[in-house]
Amino acid sequence: MSSDLVIDVRNVTKRFGGITAVNDCSLSVRRGSITGLIGPNGAGKSTLFNIVAGNIVPDSGQVIFDGKDVTGCKPHELFRIGMLRTFQIAHEFSQMTALENLMMVPGDQPGEHLVGMWFRPGLVQARETEVRKKALDVIDFLKLGHVRHELAGNLSGGQKKLLELGRTMMVDARIVLLDEVAAGVNRTLLNDLADNIERMNRELGYTFFVIEHDMDLIGRLCDPVIVMAQGQKIAEGPMAEIRANPAIIEAYFGA
Ligand code: ADP
Ligand code: MG
Repeated sequence: MSSDLVIDVRNVTKRFGGITAVNDCSLSVRRGSITGLIGPNGAGKSTLFNIVAGNIVPDSGQVIFDGKDVTGCKPHELFRIGMLRTFQIAHEFSQMTALENLMMVPGDQPGEHLVGMWFRPGLVQARETEVRKKALDVIDFLKLGHVRHELAGNLSGGQKKLLELGRTMMVDARIVLLDEVAAGVNRTLLNDLADNIERMNRELGYTFFVIEHDMDLIGRLCDPVIVMAQGQKIAEGPMAEIRANPAIIEAYFGA
């Protein structure tokens, strides 16, 4: 049932010169799931992710989001209908507090770049109160209350990641795309991050689509896990099944 699917990638192909990065690839993300995407280097994961997020237009095939064909839509258009990708806290925001970072709400002018999306000066008072309340709720949920007035630039790597996650909670995301969120985060903070992703999924119903190199994190969080190799989906299932599949071992380590 397509209504079960938040994202449905249908027969997508993307070439760069002579290289076929994504080759007639079909895959989907079920509503309410934390779906992982893994595969060897060069498999086409980032290209596929960029196609879903609207950063790259495919040569052929479709991306269906919530039952609607969004192939070729720009990231800000997808953002407005609830497809969110986490971004590193930009330099300009490091001198704002954690709370202020969350209070930067999306704008609605077409063609706005990312900074414009998040930052709307001159919010009317009522709206500001409402946004502040929501930001405080998010801070509570992520257990960042003790650093809410700390400058974002002074937060630890893990706390910054939580704040990135928190920004996706400030708007009504139907799906959150996580792109190697574990990179550069230590074990303890990674656990914390994973806990929060799980809680957002279980308690708040967020769907996640996750590219990640950290297999432990993928194994802990994701079901199903989709494996890509040479631009195509070669397997999908729970991590335990994936790990035990000889064809996948070969795709990773084979000649
Ligand atoms: P992965 O993220 O799984 O490592 P990528 O999607 O980054 O794979 O890359 C898939 C293939 O497409 C690789 O062979 C890569 O070199 C190539 N590729 C990716 N982006 C570009 C680009 N902008 N220009 C040319 N080739 C690219
Ligand atoms: Mg990549």
